[in-house]
Amino acid sequence: MHILFNRIQLIALSLFIVLGAMLPVQALKEVKIKDVLFKDTVLTISHDSYGDVKFKRRIYENPPRLVFDILDAHLGEKSFRFTLPSNCDVTEVRVAQFDQNTVRVVSEAKTVTALEKVHIENIGQNLFFKFHVNDVEIQDVAFENGSLRIVASGTIVPRTILLNNPERLVLDLIGAKLKSEAQVQKITNGEEVIRVGRFDNSIVRIVFTGPKTHRREVRISNNERQLLVLGGDSVDPAKLAETNPAKVPNKITGFKIIKDAKDESVYAVESIRKVDYKFLKLHNPERLVVDLIGVDYVEGLGSIQLPATAQVENVRMGLATLGSPVTRIVFDLKGKDLLEEFKEMDGGKTLLIRMLGVGSADKLQASTEIGTSAEKSFGSAVVIDAGHGGYDYGAIYGGHNEKDITLSIAQKITGYLEAAGIKSYMTRSDDRFVSLAERVEVSNSIEPKVFVSVHANALVTNPNMEGLQTYYYNSNSLSFANVMHKQLLKDVGMPDQRVRKAGFWVVKHTDVPSLLLELGFMTNVEERKKLTKDSYQNDLAKAVSRGIINYLEGAR
Ligand code: ZN
Repeated sequence: MHILFNRIQLIALSLFIVLGAMLPVQALKEVKIKDVLFKDTVLTISHDSYGDVKFKRRIYENPPRLVFDILDAHLGEKSFRFTLPSNCDVTEVRVAQFDQNTVRVVSEAKTVTALEKVHIENIGQNLFFKFHVNDVEIQDVAFENGSLRIVASGTIVPRTILLNNPERLVLDLIGAKLKSEAQVQKITNGEEVIRVGRFDNSIVRIVFTGPKTHRREVRISNNERQLLVLGGDSVDPAKLAETNPAKVPNKITGFKIIKDAKDESVYAVESIRKVDYKFLKLHNPERLVVDLIGVDYVEGLGSIQLPATAQVENVRMGLATLGSPVTRIVFDLKGKDLLEEFKEMDGGKTLLIRMLGVGSADKLQASTEIGTSAEKSFGSAVVIDAGHGGYDYGAIYGGHNEKDITLSIAQKITGYLEAAGIKSYMTRSDDRFVSLAERVEVSNSIEPKVFVSVHANALVTNPNMEGLQTYYYNSNSLSFANVMHKQLLKDVGMPDQRVRKAGFWVVKHTDVPSLLLELGFMTNVEERKKLTKDSYQNDLAKAVSRGIINYLEGAR
């Protein structure tokens, strides 16, 4: 597997957080806290905002506590207090209105380390605090050509400290354990000494001592399981090419409208390096949120006022402040049935964001080439990805969770595939949270013939909307998308909501032909009823398996 080191992390912040905190151009709107829930060592705070939220996170030592403030937020009179089970190092968490504008979440623990490991994530309109995070195992520590490479069994959460007299770089891997005693070692590299050891039970500490240690660069892989400490004078140019410098965050150099037509608006985001991005389509009001990962926000850009187009009312830009830098662009859309297309140009330094009006879907397909499918052999592995899971419920309507529907259908699909003699893997086979990066990593490490992610749709603004949407992103997935879409429409007879191109994380970052299927709308009462029925799930699963088999046969 080829691992790209294209994710920048500002190690000093050492946060394990992907948070959508944003400083909007306009005055902040107050965020309303809708609900506070505590279950299975996970705190869920539901709020009514997608973008315009600010956070502040601090850890105090004596006694150990994590203070997380949600700014310009309102909870009201209510306050909450939860006690964690005794096997958890975090002991208690409290949520309350701290002052007029701040909702404060205070977590107490036996150790500061336990608080550093608290995983905070903002997904949709839910802020999750995961208090019990298992330690990852350091599987490999290798020193070659002056660089140190660390491989772990899970996400690495690094923290770096630079010290003087003598010059030292201290690298702590939080929530990590060494695999064996043999990994405790001392490496001598010219004038430099590198020591690998334990700081405490769940922190691995690596100390570089020597005159050039401050010039080392710490980089983390896209899947966050490998850490590279590049350095000295002997940086391997091949490795450099695979990585982005961690010390200089990417920056936006231009943001403009390059096409403003009746049926299409095109925006160009220019930056100094290739941009990695994620997007989120939000409804009520309609918005497209684009997060530029590892991109520092430039103040002046926020004040650029772009005129409205036929598709876009307004554009806002701000910084997601916690963890690695993320610049967020929010497009306030005029229509709810617009299609989006993302296109990278100039080696990814320019990102084109197209908004297409209804009825121009043909253009989308015409603009992508049909992928080649050489060397496909029938009977090989397939990866089925059940969307959401664990504390990420997906859409919740009528007492049904998307995560349960996706898991059930995914299990049925693998059942049919196995019966047909096709080896299939699932990214999750039970109700657990699996990050998008992990899903992609599972797929890319198996190197299957195809990848299919199973989801159910939701569109609050139009409860009549029903039917199938088949999403793909890379051009090698288009023919698979067409085969699958046709098969599902034929076998299940659902309304055609078209094959669409969109850069969902799991279809964008998987190497093989990949689809994300939205198998019906949970916001449509009738379709929701069907989706929860065993017989209908069987029909869907059968059709999906047929689509996979047809594609593999055709591509053979
Ligand atoms: Zn979903």
